Amino acid sequence: MSGAGRGYDVLVVGSANADLTVRVDRRPGAGETVLGTDLVESAGGKGANQAAAAARIGGRTALLARVGKDAYGDLLLAAQRAAGTDVTPVVVDAAARTGTAMIIVGPDGDNSIVVSPGANAALTPQDVAAARQTVAAATVLSLQLEIPIETVRAAAATAEECGTRVVLNPSPVPERLAPELLAVADPLVVNEHEARRLSGVADGTPRDWAHALRELGARSVVVTLGGDGALLLDAEGLHEVPGVTVDAVDTTGAGDAFTGALATRLARGDGLPDAARFAVRVGAAAVTKPGAQPSYPTLADLDALPQ
Ligand code: ADP
Repeated sequence: MSGAGRGYDVLVVGSANADLTVRVDRRPGAGETVLGTDLVESAGGKGANQAAAAARIGGRTALLARVGKDAYGDLLLAAQRAAGTDVTPVVVDAAARTGTAMIIVGPDGDNSIVVSPGANAALTPQDVAAARQTVAAATVLSLQLEIPIETVRAAAATAEECGTRVVLNPSPVPERLAPELLAVADPLVVNEHEARRLSGVADGTPRDWAHALRELGARSVVVTLGGDGALLLDAEGLHEVPGVTVDAVDTTGAGDAFTGALATRLARGDGLPDAARFAVRVGAAAVTKPGAQPSYPTLADLDALPQ
């Protein structure tokens, strides 16, 4: 199977959320009201983030998601178009509100987040079936877990039938990942928390988690290590990719930037180590600016990073 000559490098099937962010000096307790800063509305959601990251670095990218017929839906579509994503597959759902993430940033910089899935919860296996041609036209399908799990499974199964490579980022992390989803992941992209949880190896190191996840069935595994870069394991063995030292301002959406970039470079024919080296740079660039999608770099932005 070769994806060369397919119409898209990356199709993302996943969530799109409006991120509504307020900073506070003190988190409110139950029954309490506190005043925060002005509201910042920006484009987010793991699926939309990964699509924007892929498109910003020049990947031919399409997104299958659902948004409501409302102002936040318009904002999310405009952000995708500005990044260069083909939004033709996006369903505008008159019966649902656009998904929102209500984010409170405390004085320590830590986020407390409430997500209202809205239209994301209405993305169905039928939507995937309707987009089958687009799945077949993509070299890589990128999946996360912010949409109904049966939709993720349908997308993974369709990709298998069409010879489309699956990159799976199992986030938010479930208690357990269905074996058939693990078995199509090439790679499974996990941060340290997700790797520990899904591998079942509570006391191990990233190497132990990667080996355990491959033994559980993943074709290849990438563990992202924040500022320390990433570790990967495939049939050829283990590789370490060092981090890039930057002034980290806001790590929101860094993992999505990494995954969108990884998917693009795999689609363009890179091996896993080269694709991960590139993705580590994209992730590092993303933490130097606030927000998720607004922080994602173009190829020109990457030139400004330390080598
Ligand atoms: P997640 O955002 O899913 O928790 P990580 O924290 O592992 O994932 O970050 C994903 C990628 O973003 C890393 O592999 C790295 O490329 C980049 N990154 C994250 N935090 C930093 C940081 N402090 N400095 C440099 N790069 C970072």
